[in-house]
Amino acid sequence: MTDAVQVQEYDWSGYRGVLIYVEQREGRAKPVSWQLLGQGRRLADKLHTHLMAVVIGGQIEHLAKDAVAYGADRVYICEAPELRDYRTRPYSRLMMQLIEEVKPEIVLFGATATGRDLAGAIATHLPTGLTADTTELDVEPDPSRLLLASRPAFSEKMMATILCKQYRPQMATARAGVFEALPRDNQRSGEVLRLESRMGEDDIAAKVLDFVRDQTSVNLEEAEVIVAGGRGLGGPDAFRLLEELAEAMGGVVGASRAAVDAGWIGHEHQVGQTGYTVRPKLYFAIGISGAVQHTVGMSNAELIIAINKDKEAPIFQFAHYGIVGDLFQIVPALTEEVKRRKL
Ligand code: FAD
Repeated sequence: MTDAVQVQEYDWSGYRGVLIYVEQREGRAKPVSWQLLGQGRRLADKLHTHLMAVVIGGQIEHLAKDAVAYGADRVYICEAPELRDYRTRPYSRLMMQLIEEVKPEIVLFGATATGRDLAGAIATHLPTGLTADTTELDVEPDPSRLLLASRPAFSEKMMATILCKQYRPQMATARAGVFEALPRDNQRSGEVLRLESRMGEDDIAAKVLDFVRDQTSVNLEEAEVIVAGGRGLGGPDAFRLLEELAEAMGGVVGASRAAVDAGWIGHEHQVGQTGYTVRPKLYFAIGISGAVQHTVGMSNAELIIAINKDKEAPIFQFAHYGIVGDLFQIVPALTEEVKRRKL
C-alpha cells in the first residue's frame, strides 16, 4: 500500500503587487530602500503589476514623496510618536496588518540588522517563507508569477535560487549595494495612503531608553569613498597609511578577506562575497589581487583605482585607473598630493 502525499492547492490570485519596506532612521532613509524600489520597479513591470512602498516612523511624511520619486506607485505611511524608534513588535504588527489588507504577492526588505529582524518576525507569524540575504531577484511571468530569489549557498560555493511556490506573499531580504536605484524623478506622481497603528505605547513591552552610537563602526554601505587594502599591505601597521588617505579624501577604510582573516583589521571592514557589497563613487583597491570573491562586492563602484606591484594582477581588469608599483611609495605620495590640493 502506498501513501500519496497531498499538496494542498491554494488560490493566491487575490495577491498582487510588489511591496518594499522603506527603512529609515531619524527620518533618513537607508539607501538600500531606494535600491530595492529600483529593483521592485523592474519586477513589478515584468509582472504588469503595481509597486508599493511602506514607511513607518516618527516624522516620515517627506519620505512618501521620496518613495514616489524613486519608483513607487503607492506609498503607505504610518506616523506616530511611539513608532519613532524601531521596535520589533509594533513594526511587525503593522506590517502584518498591511499585508493582510493589501495582499502583496512579493515583499522585500533590506538585509540590514532592522530588515532582517522585521522580516524574520513577520515570517514567523505568516504562513509563508523568507529568503534571507539575496543578491539576485527576478520573477517568472504569468501564470506562476514566482519570485526567483538567489543567494550564495553551501559556504558561498554556489548560488541557490529559492522559490516559495505554495504560499503568499513571497518574502526576501536583499543585500545593500547590489541593486541600482532609479534616477530620482520628482515629476512622478503616486498615491499616498495612511495606515493607523492599533498599538499604543502601553502595549509595547520594549522601551527605548537611549541610543549610544558606536564610534568605532564603519558604514561601508553608505560611504562615497572607500580606501581598501589587502594582503599586499603586509601587516596591520600599513592600514595607518590607508586611514590617512581615507581621511584626506573624506572616506572610510575597507579590506579584503585576506587582511581580515590575518587579524589586521575588523570584519566590519570586509568587502566581498562574505563581507559588504558596496557602491561608492570612488574605490581604491590597494595591494588586493582581485579575486572574484572580492570583486563581486566592489565592481559596482563608479570609479575604481587599483594600486598593485604586479601588472598582471586581475584587479586591473576591473579598475578604471591602474597604478603599477609599490604601495608603500605610492599611497603616502597620493595622500600628500590630496592634502596639498585641498590647502
Ligand atoms: P592576495 O590575493 O594575496 O593579493 C595580494 C596582492 O597584493 C597581490 O596582487 C600582490 O601583487 C599585491 N602586493 C603585494 N605587495 C605589494 C606592494 N608592496 N605594493 C602593491 N601591491 C602589492 N575575499 C574578499 O576579499 N572578500 C570576501 O568577502 C571573500 N569571501 C570569500 C568567500 C569564500 C567562500 C572564499 C573561498 C574566499 C573568499 N574570499 C574573499 C577570499 C578570496 O578568494 C581571496 O583569497 C582574497 O580576496 C585575497 O585577498 P588579497 O587580494 O588581499 O590577497
